[in-house]
Amino acid sequence: MEGAPVALGGPRGFEVTRTLPGKQRRTVGAWCFLDAYGPHDLDRTGGMRVGPHPHTGLQTVTWLVAGEVLHRDSLGNVQEIRPGQLNLMTAGRGISHAEVTPETHSRLLHGVQLWVALPHADRDMAPAFAHHADLPVFADGGLAATVLIGDVGGVVSPAACHTPLVGAELTLRANAAASLPLRPDFEYAVLALEGAPVVEDTAVKPGPLLYLGSDRTSLRLSTASPARLLLLGGEPFEERLVMWWNFVGREHDEIVQMRLDWESQTPRFGSVPHYDGPRMPAPRMPLTRLVSRGRVR
Ligand code: MN
Repeated sequence: MEGAPVALGGPRGFEVTRTLPGKQRRTVGAWCFLDAYGPHDLDRTGGMRVGPHPHTGLQTVTWLVAGEVLHRDSLGNVQEIRPGQLNLMTAGRGISHAEVTPETHSRLLHGVQLWVALPHADRDMAPAFAHHADLPVFADGGLAATVLIGDVGGVVSPAACHTPLVGAELTLRANAAASLPLRPDFEYAVLALEGAPVVEDTAVKPGPLLYLGSDRTSLRLSTASPARLLLLGGEPFEERLVMWWNFVGREHDEIVQMRLDWESQTPRFGSVPHYDGPRMPAPRMPLTRLVSRGRVR
């Protein structure tokens, strides 16, 4: 699945490659959004500056390969995230946050931004935020899998999720040949972040998302030079979704209400304290009604 280049808003455009929702496939498990960015040289491109904006019906996952991002949210959390750490924000019925490059920062910024759709039963839950600096690792033959969410070979992440799901960063040493245990009832996809590893018999490189489907009990990984990948998986998510701007909902009218609540500054999304700059205005609604969509186009 090839990604599309997207320029994020803000005072400085910040280019990302969006592979979820994709042209053929909108979700992998409950993973419903994947932007990869960098490595950006911040001396040339300027840093990240995403002003206060709302979310609903999802969890956001921030994961960095290099650099730092400073998160602030309407619950009052202020958290700098660094490589190897997980920021997990659960929007539930409504939260707002801002993400910026901190004043003191590394030259390179490289990472991913993901969303997980909350299932119907939990989508209106109270918002929450968690920072996991110490994540467990599954290791095998030159492979180290840092478990962000879910379980890899019995190694379980402390992060809270609401559907059967897995997310892991896989690092491979030079000349590694390893096997990663998978669940046959999950569907999976991998995104190369660094290097040129081989997944089963397919050579991958940073950019496109490789969809692996389900019915696999293991995944063969090898590489000549050091490599890094992101593994996403989960039980196929069968609920139909309406995704519009930063909202995940089920039907047009509730998205209209979410947008109205943000624009009229009702208490639903709170406010982000100590952010120096304007909140992000919602785009106009399209002239046609938003239609809910399933996992495959
Ligand atoms: Mn966001």
